[in-house]
Amino acid sequence: MERKQSEIAWQQAVEVIPGGVNSPVRALQSVRETPLFIEKAQGAELTDIDGNRFIDFCLSWGVFIAGHGHESVKAAARQAIDKGTSYGIPCETETRLAEKVRCFIPSMEQVRFVSSGTEAVMSAVRLARGYTGRDLLVKFEGCYHGHADHLLVNAGSGVASIGGASSAGVPGGFVKYTITLPYNDPAAVETFFRNHGEAVAAVILEPVACNMGVVLPEEGFLAFLREITRHYGALLVFDEVITGFRLSRGGAQQVYGITPDLTTVGKIVGGGFPAAAFGGRREIMQHLAPLGNVYQAGTLSGNPVAMQAGLATLHLLEEAGFYRELDQKSSEFFILLEEIVSGKRVRLNHTGSVFTLFFSGKEVRNFADATQSDREAFADFFRYTFRHGIYLSPSQLEGNFLSSAHTPEQLDYTLEVMKRYFKNR
Ligand SMILES: *Cc1c(COP(=O)(O)O)cnc(C)c1O
Repeated sequence: MERKQSEIAWQQAVEVIPGGVNSPVRALQSVRETPLFIEKAQGAELTDIDGNRFIDFCLSWGVFIAGHGHESVKAAARQAIDKGTSYGIPCETETRLAEKVRCFIPSMEQVRFVSSGTEAVMSAVRLARGYTGRDLLVKFEGCYHGHADHLLVNAGSGVASIGGASSAGVPGGFVKYTITLPYNDPAAVETFFRNHGEAVAAVILEPVACNMGVVLPEEGFLAFLREITRHYGALLVFDEVITGFRLSRGGAQQVYGITPDLTTVGKIVGGGFPAAAFGGRREIMQHLAPLGNVYQAGTLSGNPVAMQAGLATLHLLEEAGFYRELDQKSSEFFILLEEIVSGKRVRLNHTGSVFTLFFSGKEVRNFADATQSDREAFADFFRYTFRHGIYLSPSQLEGNFLSSAHTPEQLDYTLEVMKRYFKNR
């Protein structure tokens, strides 16, 4: 595979952009490859500036559940652009998308749009603290909630794969109200609440963790969190920035039948444009300015182009059988992948259309397990698949995604390459 143009592009990028990238994992540092520079993306296929084609299982980190460049999403965005790209004044599309979000995720009785998942979580946490009048936030090791200061504590995603438990530049005082507990460990939560429960504003988690690789909540874990937060008057916040509109129309909360007080969504909801949202019980959301005293704002919040693209995307998800077909296709893929890796030191974790291959001999049920996976083995696997035209998320502490656009031929080819890789290992 010729990658000359990407090499040149990278040299130019590192001159003016730190590390050559605007988000760390894109640098492919942990798998020691030159970053991809993309010319275009369509369906489940990326084309780089050297003309190499890749089958994309990253999909802009799960954004493109219907594939890149879906005609109806592009048409909606184009129409919006023709009418002006930002007003700083309300437009009706914001209301239409809020209605649609609430229709899909009924616990989001009221919704406020922002421009990134980070912002959505940051705002939801501020609201939870303002509403309860308490300071402590309980989060879980390996869950990633964006890069706001007080959430960069034992976080997953890129923070984990560059080897830092946290980040420089975050004063100790900023994180002293953030308590981190192990995922899937109700006893640890119970102990903490017994001593400090009255001071906890909120418990936040990814209801299915996707940023330490895919790690499912164990039987009863979410129900336990629902119960204990209610008992102590703390809020339960589901960060569904990945799982919302991914695991089902109603996200993980629908799949598991647990209703949080607040929810954050992102990625899919912007249809490939910068948009995210947080929402929840009306009575809580009414504490936001201008009604209440919790301040939250944004110049480009509810951006009309992003709102139209999001609306067009959610329309696609309403089509009969959308999730049934995507999940069916995914589970057939996972069955075959499971056969390929069986007997190897590899664990396949998956749910819906999301998966991770952990290079580990044991089950992965929390961050400690995930980080014990073999990084070198993963890097070797990544480079092999990459050089055979498959773009996986470049760390085993991330999720991989299928879309309705992945064709049977693309999935067969992917399995064939992976089979060849594992054959003699
Ligand atoms: C991606 C992600 C975020 C952050 O969203 P950005 O748009 O990257 O700021 C927050 N929480 C979860 C669960 C995510 O996957």
